[in-house]
Amino acid sequence: MKQRIVILGAGFGGMELGTLLSEQVPDAADVTLIDRSDAFVFGYAKLDVMFGRTTSEAVRLPYAEFVKPGVTLVRDTVVGIDPDRRHVTTASGSFDADVLVIALGAAYDFAATPGLSEADEFYSEAGAFGVRSRLEDFTSGSAVIGVCGAPYKCPPAPSECALLLHDSLVRRGVRDRCDITLVLPFGRPIPPSPDTSAALVEAFAERDITFVPSAKVGTLDHDRAVAVLESGDELAYDLFLGVPKHRAPDVVVASGLTEDGYVPVDPATLETRCPGVYAIGDVATQGTPKAGVFAEGAARALAATLIGRIRGTDDAGTHTGKGSCYIEFGADRIGRVDIDFLSGPSPTGTFQEPSPQLRAEKEHFGSSRRARWFGRAT
Ligand SMILES: Cc1cc2nc3c(=O)[nH]c(=O)nc-3n(C[C@H](O)[C@H](O)[C@H](O)COP(=O)(O)OP(=O)(O)OC[C@H]3O[C@@H](n4cnc5c(N)ncnc54)[C@H](O)[C@@H]3O)c2cc1C
Repeated sequence: MKQRIVILGAGFGGMELGTLLSEQVPDAADVTLIDRSDAFVFGYAKLDVMFGRTTSEAVRLPYAEFVKPGVTLVRDTVVGIDPDRRHVTTASGSFDADVLVIALGAAYDFAATPGLSEADEFYSEAGAFGVRSRLEDFTSGSAVIGVCGAPYKCPPAPSECALLLHDSLVRRGVRDRCDITLVLPFGRPIPPSPDTSAALVEAFAERDITFVPSAKVGTLDHDRAVAVLESGDELAYDLFLGVPKHRAPDVVVASGLTEDGYVPVDPATLETRCPGVYAIGDVATQGTPKAGVFAEGAARALAATLIGRIRGTDDAGTHTGKGSCYIEFGADRIGRVDIDFLSGPSPTGTFQEPSPQLRAEKEHFGSSRRARWFGRAT
């Protein structure tokens, strides 16, 4: 009988796992991929929309175009997960699995930061797409880009937001009437890479962006237009661009699999405490930062294990925790940091200076995945 593999969430992790299983064992596994959304949006595309480089319609990749032999994509909301029975309930049905993979990403915990809503943040689709018009209206005063908690997706993204905001204000001829402040929870922008961090801090200084390290926004006081940091310090703002606190989606928390907000897994195998139940990507404590490249890396490792088992070779994949992140430095310059989280005693990161090749590489990062997952030519 075919293995029933049920994957919850068609993001970076879920789509890559589904694609690999379809490519390598299309007839031997019965794969179901469940997502509540009708389209996928790359995280970095949110910044592109915010800063007017493209439109929200152009960056939405409809799941109807994710067509893979052996994979059934179900558009539905997961409302219950019973990990002991590997049983999943959705809004309109239920599924039993031999192998259950939780790839539901990280959710935003607005309630954890009083005053914060989708109108104040740029991490959700609605939040990012809504910022675009607010940015157009912002011509003078103080902009605060503030992170409310860690871990958060794509650690470079708030720094990129500050640098791209600078460019946008320069382009509109209003930069000298505006201040930009960036609040990050870490002592430096990219903790595992001192070189990348130094390059970013230098870029902030060159652009007169105030960097507030080791701080988090605890409350947003709309009446006084003040962001209150957890330290009690206050930052007045005319434009607030926040990064909400993250945690696993409610349905995952209710399954009993989470500890400290996320699903603990064996970092090498990605298996949870329940046999046959795996968690990959942002939903898991998989030993890496929360980013698409690391969700994909976990998917590749798990795919190798599942394919080995199906073929009877027992080749086991190992999650290595390596990945490269592209970083927008503004002025159309893109750098890269190559991070290795699991090989050594502590994480390391190697920086590559911005260059035209890296711009082309980042474009390829997007186009190769649009082609691989959605069959798009560009
Ligand atoms: C501004 C910004 C910039 C970023 N830039 C980059 C970048 O340059 N490079 C990079 O690698 N990463 C980047 N990221 C991070 C990246 O987007 C995430 O880390 C990545 O998407 C995580 O992949 P995942 O598969 O774990 O989860 P996701 O891609 O979040 O997928 C989870 C899926 O689960 C679905 N889902 C959730 N709950 C339910 C439910 N109850 N029922 C059904 N479906 C559900 C969601 O609809 C979603 O499709 C960025 C993020 C942001 C916000």
